[in-house]
Amino acid sequence: MKINTQYYNEFWAFLKSNGIKNFTPDEVLNCEENSNGTIKQDADSGVYNDPPHQKIWEACIPVLKTLEEVRDELGIYIVVNSFWRDHHYNRVVGGTANSYHTKFIAADIVPHYKNGRLYPIIAFYDYLDKKLGDAWGLQEYDNRVHIDSREEKYRKTYYRR
Ligand SMILES: [Zn+2]
Repeated sequence: MKINTQYYNEFWAFLKSNGIKNFTPDEVLNCEENSNGTIKQDADSGVYNDPPHQKIWEACIPVLKTLEEVRDELGIYIVVNSFWRDHHYNRVVGGTANSYHTKFIAADIVPHYKNGRLYPIIAFYDYLDKKLGDAWGLQEYDNRVHIDSREEKYRKTYYRR
């Protein structure tokens, strides 16, 4: 299956119909809309990332809705570094096998103040940890946070002593 302008536009309409206003197909599908209206389906690495079948689009909505809430609650921007990954692309970027990214329920995100400065990662992680309660997955890295909507609670920090 290929991504093309029609897929891109339908996916964007799907996001909007679910109240997702601040995240674009570029961020969520890891593609790029070129200025001439064509879609570049390569991730930053140049590796082809086959887009998700329409029947699993719904899977991304809980995480995106939560990110919209967090954005409003903290008054920040959230940049999505990585969301959807097909199995091949996931392997190439060193994701764990059966990563939640390949199920379309995980995002690697970086918080920014509205002035563009980075929002502190530890404070951001702690905020999310509290907000999510006893559910979902969270992993804190030095420069980003991974969030996923798995049912059970999972937490991991790598850089704290
Ligand atoms: Zn991740």
